[in-house]
Amino acid sequence: MPEPIKILIHGGAGTILPSAMTPELEIQYKNGLSQALTAGYNVLKDGGPSLLAVETAVKVLEDNPLFNAGKGSVFTHDKRHEMDASIMDGKTLKAGAVAGVTNIKNPVNLALKVMRESDNVLLTGEGAEKFAASHGVKQVESSYFYSEFRYQQLMAIIDTHKAQLDHNVKVAVGEDNKKFGTVGAVALDKDGNLAAATSTGGLTNKKFGRVGDSPIIGAGTYANNETCAVSATGQGETFIRYVVAYDISCLMAYKGLSLADACREVISKIDKADPECGGVIALDARGNFAFEFNTPGMYRGLMQQDENPECWIYR
Ligand code: ASP
Repeated sequence: MPEPIKILIHGGAGTILPSAMTPELEIQYKNGLSQALTAGYNVLKDGGPSLLAVETAVKVLEDNPLFNAGKGSVFTHDKRHEMDASIMDGKTLKAGAVAGVTNIKNPVNLALKVMRESDNVLLTGEGAEKFAASHGVKQVESSYFYSEFRYQQLMAIIDTHKAQLDHNVKVAVGEDNKKFGTVGAVALDKDGNLAAATSTGGLTNKKFGRVGDSPIIGAGTYANNETCAVSATGQGETFIRYVVAYDISCLMAYKGLSLADACREVISKIDKADPECGGVIALDARGNFAFEFNTPGMYRGLMQQDENPECWIYR
């Protein structure tokens, strides 16, 4: 019997409140999520592997300037863009990741190349870019990533010592709220294989080559057919310290928890340490899924057998 094909995506979590949103912007976000879901789901519907489905969905989100990944990446303190991404195959436990890349149009595509065409899991900075150049990965000028909105976000905090989570609402509507705009996807294909991918521009005003959880296998991304596929968004340092994605998998493997219970337990644990720090999307090999977050909102969506894409923003 074919497995129940399914894809879940996120476009970041945070203090996303109806009061800080216009109806037009809400439609734009939902359209962006729906496009990514449809692209990823079509891969599954055509019998393709979950690995390709998550790469495809994340690429669509990376090309959308609304989200903090690829084209919409935030600025570092040095007025650059340093992007992180990772991808993992739940069948083989193979994984690929890149951190601190500056000129890669679709970092998730480079992460997949690292997984498939190198002996390594994680490549960083210039080395990752050299690998990209020799493996036919599309590179672009830095101007491709420029947006006035992102630049103004940086200008608002460049003189502080704070690195800020994605498109801080303060710049947009005058409130000091947290928002995390990283993107990610998890999918289950007809053969019962899981995969996960995550991509981000990191934090506005980040310094010193700071890297978050998104390219760290086990923290921001994890996939294992025996348990689940997870992609996280939020305060990367917390997700690294609590090894969030792998912890969810471990609770299922070692304690027999259901996917929903494992996600709830891990998010409630990090909530005690760091309230309103983010969330996860997760899927198991039987098609059970979870959206778990401790923030007021998370851009998120689901597409499954014979249904239209469904997208949500608020809790
Ligand atoms: N997790 C990302 C990071 O810390 C940020 C985000 O989710 O928006 O780099």
